[in-house]
Amino acid sequence: MQCTSCSFCTVTCPVMNVLLTDASSPRGRVQIAYGLYTGELEVDESATQRLYECTTCGMCDHTCPSGVHIVDVIKAARKVVYPEHAVEKQRTFADNITEKEHTYGELKEPIWAFTGHAPKERSEIAYFMGCKITAETGHKQGIAAVNILDRLGVDFTTLNEVCCGAPLMYIGVSEDRIRKQMEKNINEIRKRGVKKVLFSCPSCYYMFEKVYPKYTDVSDIEFQHIVEFLDGKLSPDEFEAGTEPITYHDPCHLGRTFNIYEEPRNLIKLIPDADYAEMEHNRENSLCCGAGGSLALYEPSLTKKMADRRVAEAGERTVVSACPNCVGNFSKHTNAMSIEELLWTKLKG
Ligand code: SF4
Ligand code: SF4
Repeated sequence: MQCTSCSFCTVTCPVMNVLLTDASSPRGRVQIAYGLYTGELEVDESATQRLYECTTCGMCDHTCPSGVHIVDVIKAARKVVYPEHAVEKQRTFADNITEKEHTYGELKEPIWAFTGHAPKERSEIAYFMGCKITAETGHKQGIAAVNILDRLGVDFTTLNEVCCGAPLMYIGVSEDRIRKQMEKNINEIRKRGVKKVLFSCPSCYYMFEKVYPKYTDVSDIEFQHIVEFLDGKLSPDEFEAGTEPITYHDPCHLGRTFNIYEEPRNLIKLIPDADYAEMEHNRENSLCCGAGGSLALYEPSLTKKMADRRVAEAGERTVVSACPNCVGNFSKHTNAMSIEELLWTKLKG
């Protein structure tokens, strides 16, 4: 009801800028959600398509002068269309999480195994890897992250973690299934006496920082993205000079949700003579990679079109990002790497 149909959100939505129909704009999605809520619209394939053709990038929330929480509206409306109108890939993804604990099904070995760091009985700091690292960046981001923490002498533990629940929320799965994931993770964190949890994945960080507190008291535990933790802990003389041409892609959740823009850039700028340039859309105006909000499952061709637009901005530069989902998506189309990997490969001996 707060929406005045002003259309400010329409011009900034990266999906709208590919599909070019008003129903595919944030405003259109809000009106569809309202129609479903009042019963003026029926749940059908067309309404479902408009609701799932959104990466939950948050550009519309950032733009809306009326303060409509558009992404929350879309996420709520997805609960009405799931599971009947979701695609098979979304249902399988969701079932993998609740039945096998991870987005990509049962793991052959514990999630921490590739780092060589088994969970410690007690530790004040934990590193939460997130399922995406195992699938999207071939473990490289996680390995680099733990190597950097080791080099800094941080006393930390890995975890017998399960999926944070973010994909369930984006797909529109009922809250009781999300709550089970939360309970497992929080029990694991508390069991080890952890006071601070570090994340490489902005979506995992978002879940713990913004969503978990709605369901359980986690006020005694601090959550932090690893770029915030590392900022200020390394110095330029620790790095080899020079890089290939690189640019930085602001992940939607890390940027528009948490205003974490300078920390990753500070870290990149530690590398002497780094060949670095910004893309045209950067910081709060960053364009979504196209893979968020379960769009890559629902409509992969649209994800590709959105990634193509961003890759064109990067040109020949390698895209560095602080999100395994963005890195994995860009890697299908251009050179891309995580910020942890960049730092680890440039740290001297
Ligand atoms: S969250 Fe992003 S993709 Fe979804 S409607 Fe808003 S601007 Fe468009
Ligand atoms: S910017 Fe806000 S008020 Fe304007 S059309 Fe979009 S949702 Fe409605």
